Amino acid sequence: MKKKVMDLLCCPVCKGPLVLHVDSEEKGEILSGSLSCSHCKVRYAITEGIPDLLPHESA
Ligand SMILES: [Zn+2]
Repeated sequence: MKKKVMDLLCCPVCKGPLVLHVDSEEKGEILSGSLSCSHCKVRYAITEGIPDLLPHESA
């Protein structure tokens, strides 16, 4: 995913802002890392450039 996509992404649960953590990137594209919502305390993985923003069940 491109970093610019961050502008479009928000937490699927609370619609709040997500914090990006980059593990690896290449040519401005994030290959792996995570997006986290500080409000929900949830992390969403970015794997092979695809952010997994499916809401997670919270216990
Ligand atoms: Zn949230």
